[in-house]
Amino acid sequence: MARKIQAIRGMNDILPDQSSVWLYLEKTVADLVKSYGYQQIRFPIVENTDLFKRGVGETTDIVEKEMYTFEDRNGESLTLRPEGTASCVRAADQAGLLYNQVQRLWYAGPMFRYERPQKGRYRQFHQMGVEAFGIATADIDAELIILTAQLWKKLGLLEHVELQLNTIGLASEREAYKAALVDYLTEYKDKLDEDSQRRLTTNPLRILDSKDESTQEILKAAPTLEDYIGEESQADFDFLQSVLTANGIPYVINRRLVRGLDYYGKTVFEWVTSHLGAQATVCAGGRYDGLAEQLGCKGTPGVGFAMGVERLILLLETLDLIPDSAKFSTDVFIMSVGNDAEVASFVLAEQLRQERKDIVVLRHCGGGSFKNQMKKADRSQARFTLILGQDEVDQGICQVKNMSTGKQQSCLLKDVASLISK
Ligand code: ATP
Ligand code: MG
Repeated sequence: MARKIQAIRGMNDILPDQSSVWLYLEKTVADLVKSYGYQQIRFPIVENTDLFKRGVGETTDIVEKEMYTFEDRNGESLTLRPEGTASCVRAADQAGLLYNQVQRLWYAGPMFRYERPQKGRYRQFHQMGVEAFGIATADIDAELIILTAQLWKKLGLLEHVELQLNTIGLASEREAYKAALVDYLTEYKDKLDEDSQRRLTTNPLRILDSKDESTQEILKAAPTLEDYIGEESQADFDFLQSVLTANGIPYVINRRLVRGLDYYGKTVFEWVTSHLGAQATVCAGGRYDGLAEQLGCKGTPGVGFAMGVERLILLLETLDLIPDSAKFSTDVFIMSVGNDAEVASFVLAEQLRQERKDIVVLRHCGGGSFKNQMKKADRSQARFTLILGQDEVDQGICQVKNMSTGKQQSCLLKDVASLISK
């Protein structure tokens, strides 16, 4: 027998027993962001490699070691998108949407990163993201964070996630801080972990993120970014905090929060949970006023975030927060014996689907004896089974069997919908 072909490591199938949770989450997000005035944008999964090199940053983990990059038949270097923000800016600019306009956009879809697969970390994973363009003031930062808090509330997650906030200031402020940080850390270079030693010359801010204990120990006495934050950045940060407080959204300030991507400045934030082990961040974002220009697009302030769909679903499952209404279940199973009854069962099924848009009506296909069909009705776990035979057709009725009580009664065809809602 030919060898079976398996899925690629770290790339998952989302099977039928999972997909209803995905639909639930996606719909909840889509409805919520729409109510805040955000419109969906869809962009390709593949882009020119340069978009991510310039957008995400040459010295980030993503570009250094996580991208799926390949040459197409023309010898052009293409990359499977590792994130959505750079593409979103590219697409909006290309369509002329960044010219003195405010845009509130959202996207959803697969992202690709060559990482070590583990719980909550995959090579194809999914993000839902929101980006707002054209607003330089921190009121939009606040709007986005409030929106995420509302989402957690809707999903029942609010008490299980923590908002971490920081401001990483303007580019000039970060440059001054970087110099001070490098000065300090160079003295302890030998004691830093390997990654951090490398980052000392490539991306020193990322050292703040290091999980290495001895590096963290050294960082304790390091200069802090806070001391380099200018008035404008601080005023924005204060304003953001006051809006969050007024809206009853608790947060903690994490001065070490810098985010892994190069494009951020001023506000950065993450929503983290203690329920998912090391893969703790379920949503992350911030302001990126310099990104558009860095990509050769019209300079436009931007702010946004992305949520990890797999991690959110893991969290909902771990906490048993998936509402019954989100789970797939069959409400009505329709079976029929005999030609006339079979034809009539189609009409009945369509009538029910019209009258009750909220229920799942499964019409048995494939014929078979009464007994055989009844077995399938049991297996479907439907709440009701409707039974049609020649007698029923002649009288314009059907038998309605309540599958949990086993009680059966006959019912006029036109009354079935109201009977099964009881
Ligand atoms: P991490 O620190 O976990 O690697 P990140 O900083 O690389 O995260 P972002 O690029 O900010 O993550 O992406 C936003 C969100 O997307 C993350 O908070 C996370 O929920 C999710 N995410 C990122 N990488 C993966 C992955 N490989 N598999 C599943 N989800 C992911
Ligand atoms: Mg990462």
